[in-house]
Amino acid sequence: MNDKIWLSLPHLSGNELSFVETAFQNNWVTSIGANIDVFEQQLESFLNAEVKICLLNSATSSLHLALVMLGVSQGDEVLTSTFSFVASANPIVYCSATPVFIDSENETWNMCPIALEEAIQDRIAKGKKPKAIIVVHLYGMPAKMDEIIEVANKYDIAVIEDAAEALGSNYKGQKCGTFGRFGILSFNGNKIITTSGGGALVCHSPEDKEKAVFLSTQARDHAPHYQHSQIGYNYRMSNIVAGIGRGQMEVLKDRVQARRKMHDFYVDIFKNIEGITVFSEPSDFFYSNHWLSAIVVDGKISGKTCEDLRMAFAEDNIESRPLWKPMHLQPVFADKPYYGGNVAEQLFNNGLCLPSGSNLSDGDRRRIAEVVLRVFG
Ligand SMILES: *Cc1c(COP(=O)(O)O)cnc(C)c1O
Repeated sequence: MNDKIWLSLPHLSGNELSFVETAFQNNWVTSIGANIDVFEQQLESFLNAEVKICLLNSATSSLHLALVMLGVSQGDEVLTSTFSFVASANPIVYCSATPVFIDSENETWNMCPIALEEAIQDRIAKGKKPKAIIVVHLYGMPAKMDEIIEVANKYDIAVIEDAAEALGSNYKGQKCGTFGRFGILSFNGNKIITTSGGGALVCHSPEDKEKAVFLSTQARDHAPHYQHSQIGYNYRMSNIVAGIGRGQMEVLKDRVQARRKMHDFYVDIFKNIEGITVFSEPSDFFYSNHWLSAIVVDGKISGKTCEDLRMAFAEDNIESRPLWKPMHLQPVFADKPYYGGNVAEQLFNNGLCLPSGSNLSDGDRRRIAEVVLRVFG
């Protein structure tokens, strides 16, 4: 059996361990220390905007904290992209609020601004103005931020950007994660850079960052004893994990280039196969890190479906995966409101995520190309 080719694996620089070791030597084996401070500064300068980063233990907890900081609570409604990973929606439920799901548009596969406005108008007509919008940049592709922010501003609703998959992507030259009232990043093992597990809340003021640090470290008031006047969380990143992040920041730009090259590779191998569209930027306004490369297959034209391709890959020990199943079709969210048509559903039915790691070899690419030719050749 050939070695397994995975969708997306960690890709270390080799320097991570030295930062972890230093923390061990200095005994900063806790949630404060130089690795936290430096990793936060590195992200701030990478994002190239007036942002303040609060490192947390996951993107899921970062989203939860963003909602808490916006005052989302029981009975509130929060709008979010239906076409995403479940972690975009779960934190809404952690707040005892209701997720309201919005369909995608066909160009970026992200939240449709038209469906978004319809949803807002209908929720207001039904008696409740949504409290926040969580917009996702799926597979690294920036959402149509001008249009989404215009709608959000028109109704004065806060935007949270779920940029878990989009570190290194930008829209009109501005980095994803820096548009909303808050942004969130993920350093989970399968993301473009990893700390084994971790996340970040992107804030726009020192006050918001201070509040996020306070809430993520159990909300301790200033007092010699333990004194609490609000509910807090244990969400801060550890200084050990942040050391891995420092090593990964040294290669982030290379990793973005390598993922983008994987996308170019797929554009090339599918270019003569009719009925297959490689997910690509709709215009120069969009710059995707191409965290995952993906295709949609029109089986009537290509003669084979995306499921045929997935099975052929699996036979050769190559991992591929259907596109995210929309949240409004998930059993756990079946009773939640949904606005839009069947764009996300069609993508789910006809799309496939392909091996996209920055550490794939020429031999891996050859094997992938051979399977594609065997199925569609
Ligand atoms: C991975 C991911 C998350 C969750 O990130 P964690 O750091 O694993 O909690 C949230 N949203 C999206 C879109 C993701 O892909």
